[in-house]
Amino acid sequence: MNIKKTIFILDTTALLYYTRYHGVNITVEKALDEVKRIDEKRLVSGLVEGGLISIENPPRKYINKIRDLAVESGDIKILSDTDIEILALALYYKMKGEEVIVITDDYAIQNILEDLGIRYRPLSRKIKKRIKWIYVCSKCGKHFSTDYHEDVCAYCGGEIVRREKV
Ligand SMILES: [Zn+2]
Repeated sequence: MNIKKTIFILDTTALLYYTRYHGVNITVEKALDEVKRIDEKRLVSGLVEGGLISIENPPRKYINKIRDLAVESGDIKILSDTDIEILALALYYKMKGEEVIVITDDYAIQNILEDLGIRYRPLSRKIKKRIKWIYVCSKCGKHFSTDYHEDVCAYCGGEIVRREKV
């Protein structure tokens, strides 16, 4: 007997807080593109190269379907193109008869998923609330606030990395 694997679809935040989900882990290319920081990019591409997460883009037909739905529900204004593709990929697999779970904390995505009857799982709220990040220069150790969006240190040009605040 063939046991079906659950399809887990990860949005951008889910990529950054990646935990191993038992099944097939997929995301869309646009979600990867949203990962901007060098250290986070490295982490996420490591997951892709290691075969833990695969990248797949949804068929155009399903993107259009989601757009129509979102216009109807009024969610279209708050959904990004990435969100729409995540939803379209989930719908695509659902229509193929697969067991689909979307990993997302985004309420707009969750709303649409409920309309579609697709399961979702938020990231652990406990962890999300507890962890505070700081940005530190890996060379000179200078701290930067989370709204410092450069990849390199303004003082020494060293690489900025994200660390858990303790
Ligand atoms: Zn520095």
